[in-house]
Amino acid sequence: MTYIANLGQGQSLAIENAGTQTLITWESRSAGQQQSQQMSLSLGKWSASPMVFKTTSGFILQVESNQRSYYVRLQSNSISLLSEVPLMLGALEVPLRYVADSKAPEMKPLEPLRMGNMSMRMEPMEMNMGNLNLSMATSTSQSSHSTSRFCSQCGREVKEDDRFCSQCGTKLN
Ligand SMILES: [Zn+2]
Repeated sequence: MTYIANLGQGQSLAIENAGTQTLITWESRSAGQQQSQQMSLSLGKWSASPMVFKTTSGFILQVESNQRSYYVRLQSNSISLLSEVPLMLGALEVPLRYVADSKAPEMKPLEPLRMGNMSMRMEPMEMNMGNLNLSMATSTSQSSHSTSRFCSQCGREVKEDDRFCSQCGTKLN
């Protein structure tokens, strides 16, 4: 896990807990020049997310580990682990951005499958192929019971109580 903080004025801080090591990378960019400082401290495994504060005397990084707090000062291009709790009166917390391991690929939401003019989607199951559309939504509307009658001779629809076809005159059953 890596946390990144934007310290302003072209400065950025990356804090990483690799095993029991705390890796601090402090980068500053000014007038086209880039300076990078890195420090590795053996502070153990973090028990909480690190915190960064802006104080009147530089930046203070706070790391929770081994049931205590460690304070690291970033001041005038030097990173130093403090032996005592620094004075943080009026300190401003700098927001940290958590950066997940880039190795793990992000899961993409399931998209409808498409192949040429064919598309398919699940729930409800639906399939399109050109003009053909197959839908497997559970439909209860079976062909409603029809009372229609048709003439056996010409196929014209006739009334229930007709005795002869109105089209061709065939006697109906
Ligand atoms: Zn008929």
